[in-house]
Amino acid sequence: MWDLLKDVWLLFGRLFPFPTRPGLRRIGNPDRSSPVLVTCNFELTVREVIKTLERDGIAAWLLVAPTKGVNVWCAGGAGDFTADTVISIIKTTGIESLVDHRWLILPQLSANGVNFWTLKERSGWNPRFGPAHIKDLGAYLARNRWRTDPEHRRVTFGIKDRFVMGTNLGFNVSLLLALPLLIASAWMPGLWWKTLPLLFVLSVASSLLVFWLPGKIGVQKGLSLGLLASAAFVVASWIAWPLGPWTLLAWTGWILLLAAFVGYDMPSWSPLWRQDMKELVAGIKTTRVEIVPEKCIACHLCDVVCPVGVFGFNAATKKYEVQNLDACVACGACIENCPTDAIVNNFREGVCSCPTCYIIEGVGKIGGRKGKQPTTETSPVAVAASACDAGACGCDGSSQGR
Ligand code: SF4
Ligand code: SF4
Repeated sequence: MWDLLKDVWLLFGRLFPFPTRPGLRRIGNPDRSSPVLVTCNFELTVREVIKTLERDGIAAWLLVAPTKGVNVWCAGGAGDFTADTVISIIKTTGIESLVDHRWLILPQLSANGVNFWTLKERSGWNPRFGPAHIKDLGAYLARNRWRTDPEHRRVTFGIKDRFVMGTNLGFNVSLLLALPLLIASAWMPGLWWKTLPLLFVLSVASSLLVFWLPGKIGVQKGLSLGLLASAAFVVASWIAWPLGPWTLLAWTGWILLLAAFVGYDMPSWSPLWRQDMKELVAGIKTTRVEIVPEKCIACHLCDVVCPVGVFGFNAATKKYEVQNLDACVACGACIENCPTDAIVNNFREGVCSCPTCYIIEGVGKIGGRKGKQPTTETSPVAVAASACDAGACGCDGSSQGR
């Protein structure tokens, strides 16, 4: 019964941290050559990793890092899942005495917080960024331990995930507004019970229709949905229950407002979305990421860590370059991990700027992570050839020297 209650809470209350004990988990009967994986200590994630590996019959060691009970992506962005976090869990679990190898598989979405080079140098382990989604772990491990297929590096957002996200969003915004609506109902009877289902419907609809709603950022998409929903409301009222012009106006305005609110919170729910706060508050209208060609050593790591496929290899110049800037969500993973600081950007070092964190951290403050400073340096630098570790980043080494 407790597990069932916990599942329901974890499913609908993802906004809130739910820590599980950090430490070492044995999956199956791991031996001295079994893979070593790292994850956060958000209970739902840990259980999903274990379930997936057990389903695929994979014996492994799982290091559950202390990330304050927050999921991988958010913990990385907030500075709670870093190279130091991983090093601490390696040292405190004694995993070094249990295996003969030093390969460490990290979730790809932790790259916005974990610096590959710092971890490698300071831990003596060989980190690898694995797939973006837990479900692909089996395929990744079955192939080998150091190569991530391009399709496994990209974040996807299928209809099932969008439905789950929409219901989550509905639950959380309803929870957030329940008390103010109840109080307001003293002056506007029935407001709360009419509004809460509306919030739920708007949340699910915004999530399911997100790829088709016009707008670049969450609020714009929310307003698009609000216009659609208001128009539907006017038609329904005209056909089924005629309302006076002022009541009709008040309800359409209310629907627009609620839809904008739902849209505002949307970027918190998938690594696919741009972070509104940078655009709305910091005045950065267009996220800029550029590679300074003279600095690029074609190590491949930016492409490995980017969850949305912004980078591509240019065979003519033998360098990586930005090929899909529109997809960039300003997560900072490439900047954090580029060994030569070749990536110029125009957003701040703090990369955790989704609306939820923005509210939690305090209005006016964007980002809480003390990560790499953004670079504006553009002069060529000499790059040691040894910076490329022949596939250390997760590639097969074939980029080296191209
Ligand atoms: S991480 Fe930096 S050096 Fe490596 S390929 Fe990307 S831009 Fe080039
Ligand atoms: S290009 Fe943008 S989305 Fe991709 S890793 Fe860099 S900051 Fe993140």
